[in-house]
Amino acid sequence: MNLTDRVDLHCHTYFSDGELSPQAVAEEAKRVGLRAVAITDHDTMEGLSELTPVPGLEIVPGIERKAEWGGDEIHILGYDCDWEILRRSPSLERDRNERNEALIEKLRSDGIDVSMEELMSLKKGIVGRPHIALLLVRKGYFSTVSEAFDAWLGNGRPYYVPITRRTVPEVAEELRRAGGKIVLAHPLQYEFSEGYRLEELVELCAGSGFHGMEVFYSNYTEAQSASLGKLAERFDLCPTAGSDFHGSRRPDRVVGGASGPYALLEALRAKERP
Ligand code: AMP
Ligand code: FE
Ligand code: FE
Ligand code: ZN
Repeated sequence: MNLTDRVDLHCHTYFSDGELSPQAVAEEAKRVGLRAVAITDHDTMEGLSELTPVPGLEIVPGIERKAEWGGDEIHILGYDCDWEILRRSPSLERDRNERNEALIEKLRSDGIDVSMEELMSLKKGIVGRPHIALLLVRKGYFSTVSEAFDAWLGNGRPYYVPITRRTVPEVAEELRRAGGKIVLAHPLQYEFSEGYRLEELVELCAGSGFHGMEVFYSNYTEAQSASLGKLAERFDLCPTAGSDFHGSRRPDRVVGGASGPYALLEALRAKERP
């Protein structure tokens, strides 16, 4: 497909669980011919600060947050947020601090030589399990970060400590306060524990001040996107498009692999919510 004048509003970098640097993602977006690409790492916008401009390509600042809905995990995209405001949100700062302290304390109580001071000295911004894993590697407990996850820190492993999950309206409010546009990510990816409740979720999102919903996504068929488009329209949400690129580990999701016209981005930015 000719991607001139098109946008991909969902890409990850190595600032979260993606493979490439933000610069490499931008170069790839330019190579495939996109007009704009959004960097949407999990829980951080720090990747944006190390980007140098790529001529002819617009970089849209973004973030992807997780929220809780009736026991299920929902993903929410935020665009054009002020990171200095957003990073101080309780769900990023306070919940993560509490979780990091609990995790370090759990390790220390088993005689493992790590401290909060050492952990925080690794990073100025958002500190999560990848940094704890890195600290364990530096201290010689493991030779790689992924070994530390597999043995100790991964879900269901002995030092897994869950992080408090905020509700959908709470996460939306934090993004709104940071001046962002709020978008429900990949609506067909959720595993609802109590029956299929997508309409109910979209209604909650619309009522929580969301501006849009991801209608075009890697591997969604035309029929799926058409039906999501109708749902978005019914709840007055702007349709958006994103590949959810992570790198070569997920070869079915490539930069520009899901895209929409630039006008989608303009409509999202112009969308006002009460
Ligand atoms: P957190 O948000 O602090 O719970 O950390 C989640 C992050 O840890 C993810 O975004 C991944 O980057 C990383 N992660 C999760 N599982 C693994 C794993 N098995 N190996 C390496 N990194 C992982
Ligand atoms: Fe991810
Ligand atoms: Fe997601
Ligand atoms: Zn994503």
